[in-house]
Amino acid sequence: MDWNTIDKKWQKKWSETNDHETDYNDKEKKFITVAYPYPNSPQHIGHGRTYTITDVHSRYLRMKGFNVLFPMGFHYTGTPILGMAKRVEANDTELIEGFKTLYKVPEDRIKEFAEPVKIADYFHEEIKSGMIEMGYSIDWRREFTTIDPAYQKFIEWQFRNLKEKNLIVQGSHPVGWCPKDQNPVSQHDTLGDVEPDFTEYVIIKFDLNGVKIPVATLRPETLFGVTNIWINPQVTYQKIKVNDEIWIASPECARKLEFLEKKIEVIEDVSGSDFVGQSVKAPHNDDSIVILPASFVKSDNGTGIVMSVPAHAPFDYQALLDCKSGKNKSITSDLLKNIQNIEPIIMIKTEGLGDIPAKDIVERMGISDQDDPKLEEATKEIYSKEFYEGILADNTKQFAGKKISEAKDEIKEWITEIESADILLELTNTPVKCRCGAECVVKLLSNQWFLDYSNKDWKNKAHTCFEKMNIFPNEIRPEFDQVLDWLRERACARQHGLGTKVPWDKEWLVESLADSVIYMAFYIISKYVNKKEIDGNELTDEFFDYVFYGKNDPAEIANKIKITKEKLEEIRKEFLYFYPVDARHSGRDLVPNHLTFFVLNHVALFPEENWPQEIVVNGSVLMRGKKMSKSMGNIIPLREAVRKYGADPIRLTILISAELLQDADFNVEAINGIKNKLESMYEDCTKIKAEEISELEPEDKWILSMLQNLASNVSESMNKIRLREALHHILYDFDSELQWYLKRVKSKQRTNISGILHKIFSNRILMLSPFAPHIAEEIWEKLGNTELASKSAWPSSIGIEFDPTSIQTETLLKSIIDDINNILKVTKISPKKITIYTADKWKSKAYSLILKNVLDGETNIGAIIKSLIANKETEQIKKDPDFVKKILNDILSESLEIRKGKMNIEQIDENKIISSELTSLVKNDYNVELSVFSESDSEKYDPKNKAKTARPFKPAILIE
Ligand SMILES: [Zn+2]
Repeated sequence: MDWNTIDKKWQKKWSETNDHETDYNDKEKKFITVAYPYPNSPQHIGHGRTYTITDVHSRYLRMKGFNVLFPMGFHYTGTPILGMAKRVEANDTELIEGFKTLYKVPEDRIKEFAEPVKIADYFHEEIKSGMIEMGYSIDWRREFTTIDPAYQKFIEWQFRNLKEKNLIVQGSHPVGWCPKDQNPVSQHDTLGDVEPDFTEYVIIKFDLNGVKIPVATLRPETLFGVTNIWINPQVTYQKIKVNDEIWIASPECARKLEFLEKKIEVIEDVSGSDFVGQSVKAPHNDDSIVILPASFVKSDNGTGIVMSVPAHAPFDYQALLDCKSGKNKSITSDLLKNIQNIEPIIMIKTEGLGDIPAKDIVERMGISDQDDPKLEEATKEIYSKEFYEGILADNTKQFAGKKISEAKDEIKEWITEIESADILLELTNTPVKCRCGAECVVKLLSNQWFLDYSNKDWKNKAHTCFEKMNIFPNEIRPEFDQVLDWLRERACARQHGLGTKVPWDKEWLVESLADSVIYMAFYIISKYVNKKEIDGNELTDEFFDYVFYGKNDPAEIANKIKITKEKLEEIRKEFLYFYPVDARHSGRDLVPNHLTFFVLNHVALFPEENWPQEIVVNGSVLMRGKKMSKSMGNIIPLREAVRKYGADPIRLTILISAELLQDADFNVEAINGIKNKLESMYEDCTKIKAEEISELEPEDKWILSMLQNLASNVSESMNKIRLREALHHILYDFDSELQWYLKRVKSKQRTNISGILHKIFSNRILMLSPFAPHIAEEIWEKLGNTELASKSAWPSSIGIEFDPTSIQTETLLKSIIDDINNILKVTKISPKKITIYTADKWKSKAYSLILKNVLDGETNIGAIIKSLIANKETEQIKKDPDFVKKILNDILSESLEIRKGKMNIEQIDENKIISSELTSLVKNDYNVELSVFSESDSEKYDPKNKAKTARPFKPAILIE
């Protein structure tokens, strides 16, 4: 099968008839959007997943009768493209080789890549072509890039609006920072897409004759348990001037402090060993505390100097033991004598942690050296338990009796008040590398523009929006609430990159996760800009206020921006029609940033009726179980894959291996499996014609009922966006039913089933159409249709009444054939004669009563038997109480649905059905005669006395 030819044929047809272009009309609308791509590379199979899911969703809703808008834009904003351009300019061979070999970029184009926009433009076209080749039903008239003049006007409006609402504030807050680019960094800007995460240490300053010895700690409250200071004698420290004080700290610490708005001046290098044995004064009392040597103290952590709290910190406890035992060679014999009387000071009481918590855990874990890695684990265990359950002891002054979790901040404030504290911010997920290669730091960015995501009212409004929204899958909902809760001020301006200037501070550019949160609204405007009905350069705040809020006089505004009042009103009308966004699709990695910001900015800028309605989140795509990445060399560019395998096999392979949130696994065997399946469906369909359906036989009624079942199940899966499940129903689940049907009609030598088969395949192909649009159109055409499959109505119902009796009948017949096959398999005999015995009438009555009991919740055998004996019609049960147990087991092994079905229909005449429907089939399959007797038939042939074991729906079978 020539997949590429089929792809091109239908893509051409869709584009010729403008099938995916959507304007407002009288129909109910659905506005489906997906995170627009960042064009710094071509898309690979992994990117294909989110866009394919969005396309399937759009196509499904279109078939359900909605007027669906699915648009696309391109996100040029940000630093990554800038970084790439710089590397091209510097002739970075690794990058240039990648462009050539992996992305197949022509050399003359690569030469232009020193200019960032050229990179974006090139990959923009590349990605767009790939989307068309994948068959995405996008309205391309609305395409834009984020550096278009009209878009920049839109972002300026957004920013001025947020600032007016006090949601963009100037302030000093810590951010991840690239020292080389002099730019804040977030997930988008780092290698491996890591969000820089940082934590705040409290610096406590001890005094050494006027020189400050600063220690950094996450547990300032343990100051009350300090017994000594640790310094690493191997490290070269620096004596530095910090604002007006003189400090001793590691060189790394000095550098970190520079980014925290401190004026740092290095005076001289000093050796850690110089300080061993000296004494400092503690800030909280006037005690003199000795400085001791310790190898576990690292210069890149904190200040490179730590305070020792041996009762509560396992590292300190072990290091103190090492000192006292003489194991630590940097200790002179005089000092050794002096320190023998240093004992742990217990200042936190925690149930279950022992008298001296650190001593206990060090002994329990068998730790005997301060460089033992188990000390990390020991530290975490104590820290967490003491934080949540610890009570401050009597030696903690005014804090005695308080819980650590409550007193922590108070103690921090108190140390600050006695002018002995400072703050050190440190990355917790080091190293974080910027895309330019530089290692990132934490910077206290002062007088900078921040989106005030810590604003409580704003958060609450966003929570309200989330509560009302559909989230698929719903299990991810708590993650959004958590993100909202921990979000804090976020820098929204950058020094470099492509994008829009901050309107009131032209030195700065709007950051890329701030200019991509409400752009769905811009899709309404971009159509008119692209049609040149409005001039992007002319757009004003009044224009946006009118389109989005209906504010001001349209005639006046229209006049100013040189369009007609009618056109302006049309834009407003179109906005009101398409907004709100009905579904926002995105990958899971955007939950903690883009998707949450999308909601926050919508609730800030739009009235409640325009808030987003739904978010759909999907997991990533693995390649043979491994993460796809350039460095692993396992990236398959999407366009290359389409050329090789065809669009539909790729779409289906991406979708069928996993539900939304799971990671999908992609491999070549799976594509081949899908291709074979589609090809065989194609073959089957070419053979059948749309004939009139004559009077329905039982098996016809059954297969059509099963088809109705399929349609309901698939519709249900589609509504829940369980696409894997829907695809399984459409492609595979129906096959065994179809096989049974064909077996039945063959045994009856029927030739009048083409109409029924046509109906079955037509409906399956329509259901397949959102998933595999090209091959579905091709088959649909072969089935004799002139209208497009994608323009047909979704078959929620196939227009045939569901027939429960036929379900009972075929289930009975199938189970008899299964039983015969099982018996033959076990006994290995070649049958000469098959006899079937159907159960007595009273057994059927008993069956109904037992079923009724079960449905009423009664499953106690004794009680059931009692009620049966009390009934005249079923009193015979006395002779065979075992029968009740068997029937009960039969019933309990079936689903509730089937049980209810059996209750609601007249019991079928098994004897008549088996005789009329199964004789020819048995003859056909086994080449023997079938005899059917009723259990009560006095003339019956029953040499093995089998008839009495017959049960309703479970006739007895004798094979000779
Ligand atoms: Zn950088």
